[in-house]
Amino acid sequence: MAVREIMDSLGKQTVNNRKLSELVKDIKLVGDKLELIFRLPNKNLENEIREKALSALKDVEGVEDIEISFEMEQPVQSPAFHRTRLPGIKHLIVVGSGKGGVGKSTVATNIALSLSKLGYKVGLLDGDIYGPSIPTMLGLKNQRVEVDKFNRIIPAEAFGMKVMSVGFLLPSEDTPLIWRGPMLMKALTQFLFDVKWGSLDFLILDLPPGTGDVQLTLAQTVEIDGAIVVTTPQDVALSDVKKAVVMFKEVGIPVLGVVENMAYFVCPESGNKYYIFGKGKVLAFAQAYGLKILGSVPIEPEISETSDSGVPIVESSTNSQSAKAFLGIAKIVAEELERR
Ligand code: ADP
Repeated sequence: MAVREIMDSLGKQTVNNRKLSELVKDIKLVGDKLELIFRLPNKNLENEIREKALSALKDVEGVEDIEISFEMEQPVQSPAFHRTRLPGIKHLIVVGSGKGGVGKSTVATNIALSLSKLGYKVGLLDGDIYGPSIPTMLGLKNQRVEVDKFNRIIPAEAFGMKVMSVGFLLPSEDTPLIWRGPMLMKALTQFLFDVKWGSLDFLILDLPPGTGDVQLTLAQTVEIDGAIVVTTPQDVALSDVKKAVVMFKEVGIPVLGVVENMAYFVCPESGNKYYIFGKGKVLAFAQAYGLKILGSVPIEPEISETSDSGVPIVESSTNSQSAKAFLGIAKIVAEELERR
């Protein structure tokens, strides 16, 4: 019995015009015991959700014992927020992950560059204030930026994109940054509003990892058109990325989908595919949360080599599996946002 079949069954029932599958906060299947946590949009719906879920699952094979619990759904938007739209930016997209090291910056950079290759005007903002890696990935390690007469920062340029990173403001590459939350927040907001982005089709913001105050405050300050979440197929990464998805949903940012990074490895000698971190886990997660998988990027040693040398893989090796995956993801993202 797969989680997928359970979600399909739940998807056939609706409560308050929402599919039951969309209300699943967490799902756990151990042996024949199924534990389901539903988000509760309103207290009065508890019995209806329970009854419809049990009825949807009564004929599902392999599930003997069903435990259902509820968590109140957070209001999507508090009236206290006043979100500002970035002038001149058609679509602001954030790229987030629950955990560091899953390839978030690599994915953000290659999606941004793919969008640029598709003919869009693109900006890339490195939100990783503590360990900015985008300057290295784009060959801008020693780049510094200046301000114009209106005190607006003039962004750097690489491969046709406008780029901003805190790395461009540091005296040297090795200068450590000891900034606390509020300063970090201030810097990010300033990079969004006080950089001379000009008019852009897409501004891609590579968020710092995690689901902390910075991400939340940011989400409440500017209007964000969509979030892309990056994960590897490892349980530790997935459990953290769930938190990121929940956070985006709670603050009303549409999650465009999931990028599965380091999905598999193709042996150069035999051509065989190896699912080093496991197969199917990201799909099950995406289905449980009603999300689309935007693409799966393989582990390719060339990705880290090209990142270190300052020419991202979509530029240096257009025929590689990963470059094709990134281009495919960019197309889906562009289509989805242009359709809205
Ligand atoms: P994060 O932003 O999540 O901390 P990075 O994008 O900095 O992660 O990636 C961490 C390391 O993993 C980098 O050295 C990067 O080149 C490498 N990497 C990322 N994705 C892949 C991949 N699909 N195949 C091989 N190496 C990868």
